Amino acid sequence: MSQSALAKEVAKRRTFAIISHPDAGKTTITEKVLLHGQRIQKAGTVKGKKSGQHAKSDWMEMEKERGISVTTSVMQFPYANALVNLLDTPGHEDFSEDTYRTLTAVDSCLMVIDGAKGVEDRTIKLMEVTRLRDTPIITFMNKLDRDIRDPLELLDEVESVLNIMCAPITWPIGSGKNFKGVYNLIDDEVILYKTGQGHRIQERDVIKGLNNPELDARIGDYAQDLRDQIELVQGASNAFDLEMFLAGELTPVYFGTALGNFGVDHMLDGLVQWAPTPLPRETDGATVVAATAPSFSGFVFKIQANMDPKHRDRVAFMRIVSGKYEKGMKMHQVRTGKDVRISDALTFLAGDREQVEEAYPGDIIGLHNHGTIQIGDTFTAGEKFKFSGIPNFAPEMFRRIRLKDPLKQKQLLKGLVQLSEEGAVQVFRPLSNNDLIVGAVGVLQFDVVVHRLKSEYNVDAIYESVNVATARWVTCKDERKLDEFRRKAEQNLALDGGDSLTYIAPTMVNLSLATERYPDIEFHQTREH
Ligand code: GDP
Repeated sequence: MSQSALAKEVAKRRTFAIISHPDAGKTTITEKVLLHGQRIQKAGTVKGKKSGQHAKSDWMEMEKERGISVTTSVMQFPYANALVNLLDTPGHEDFSEDTYRTLTAVDSCLMVIDGAKGVEDRTIKLMEVTRLRDTPIITFMNKLDRDIRDPLELLDEVESVLNIMCAPITWPIGSGKNFKGVYNLIDDEVILYKTGQGHRIQERDVIKGLNNPELDARIGDYAQDLRDQIELVQGASNAFDLEMFLAGELTPVYFGTALGNFGVDHMLDGLVQWAPTPLPRETDGATVVAATAPSFSGFVFKIQANMDPKHRDRVAFMRIVSGKYEKGMKMHQVRTGKDVRISDALTFLAGDREQVEEAYPGDIIGLHNHGTIQIGDTFTAGEKFKFSGIPNFAPEMFRRIRLKDPLKQKQLLKGLVQLSEEGAVQVFRPLSNNDLIVGAVGVLQFDVVVHRLKSEYNVDAIYESVNVATARWVTCKDERKLDEFRRKAEQNLALDGGDSLTYIAPTMVNLSLATERYPDIEFHQTREH
C-alpha cells in the first residue's frame, strides 16, 4: 500500500487501556465508551436495561455464548474521526501478570478514580507499570452522582501520591444529589447533567460562557459558586500542556459519572484529540521502528488459553507496530527463525471474534497458537529484529507446588516451564533444594496453572505455602562479584523459567538488607524476555 495511505490509517488510531482500583467503575466506563462508539447500541444488548448490574451480566452472558473470553479483551470502535482500540485489563479476581503486560502494549491509559475514595492501592501499582514507558495518562474522576471528596483535594492527592501533575479540563458543579454538571475550562462552557440518561447517548445541554446569565437562571446560586471556584482552580492548578501530557508528566482530568453516562464522552473527546497515535517501539538493537515504517512488524504481549479442555486452542495477542497485516501474508517469527503464513488471524471487533482481512499499527490481532508462540515474540515481514519492553514482572504471591505422584516430576517441570514461557505464571527453582516455587501477581493464576497442568500435561499438582514475599532478578557487571554473591546468598537464590538468576526474599526487610549488603548487585523488578 502507499506510504500516505498507511500514514492515514496510523493517524486515525488510538490504542489505550483503563487502569483503576476494583470497583472504581472500569466496567461501567467500558460499557459507556462502547455505547459512544455506537457498538453496544447496535447489538441491542444494553439498551433498555435499567441498572448497571444488568448490563454487566448481559456482557458476561455474551462472553459465554461466544465460547471464549477473548471478546472483551480488545474492543475497537470509531469515535469522532478516530478508530479507538481499547484493551481490557483484567481486574478483580482475574487480575494477573497479563494486566501489567497489556499496559506495555498501549499508547495511552485512562485512569479511573472513585471520587469518594481517591487514589487506591491498585491504581498506584498500575501507575508504576505505566511509568516504565512514560505512558500518557488521562484521568476520569468517577461517581459524581454520589458525594465525593473536595475536587481540589483529589487533584492534590493524585499529584502527591502518583507524582503526576493534574490539569483539570472539566470542573464539577456540586456532587451527589446536587450534581449539576461540569464546566469545561478550555471551551469555556457549562454542560448540564440530567439524571436517568445512563443508557442513552444524550444531547449535550450546553451553556456557553461562565458569565452567561442563563447559567444563573438554570442553576441558581451554583453559578456564582462555580465562578468563584474556577478563579481558585485556575490559580491553583496547571493548565493543560500537550508536550507534558505526551511525556507522561501531566494528566488532563475529567469529572463525571459513568453510571449516569455523563462525562465519558468529554473524556473521549480529549482522548482522540490528544492521545498519541501508535507510537514507535524500541528493538533490542536500540533502533526504533515507527508505525509508518512500510514493512509489517508486531509483538506478542499476551497468550490466552481456552480453559475448556476440549478446545486446546490458545490465542496469542499481537500488537501491530508497523506496516499492514493482510490475510494470508507471510511473516517471520524472529525467536524461532521460522517463516509462517498467517491466514486466519482474528480480530476482536466489538465483541465479535472474526477473521481479519487487514489490520494496522495500534491494532491487536489474535494468532492461533499451538504452543509455538511465546510472550515477547516479535514477528516481522522485512528486516529481522526483536522488540524490547515486554517484560516479566516480579511476582507478589508465591506457592510451593508438589506432585501427588512423585514419578511425574519431569512432566511437572516441563509443564511449568512452558506455562511460564507463555506468561501464565512464573516458576523458580531454588539453588539450594529441589523445591518448585510458582509466583504470580494475581491468585487466579495459581488455579489456572493447576487446571492446565492436569488437562494439558496430565499432572496432578497441589500447592503448599512457602515463605517467600518477593522476588528480584539479579545481575552484576562484575562476574567475580556475582560469583561471590551466588555463594554467599545461595539460600535465597533461584533460577526462573528462563534460567535467569533470581533473589527470592522471605520478607521485604530481608530484600532491603540484601540490597544494602551487596551494593554491586543490581536487583530488578522486571525482566525482559
Ligand atoms: P470495576 O470493578 O472498576 O469494573 O467497577 P464497575 O464498573 O463494576 O463498578 C463498580 C460498582 O460501582 C458497580 O456497582 C457500578 O454500578 C458502580 N458505579 C460505577 N460507576 C458509577 C457512578 O458513576 N456512580 C455510581 N453511583 N455508581 C457507579
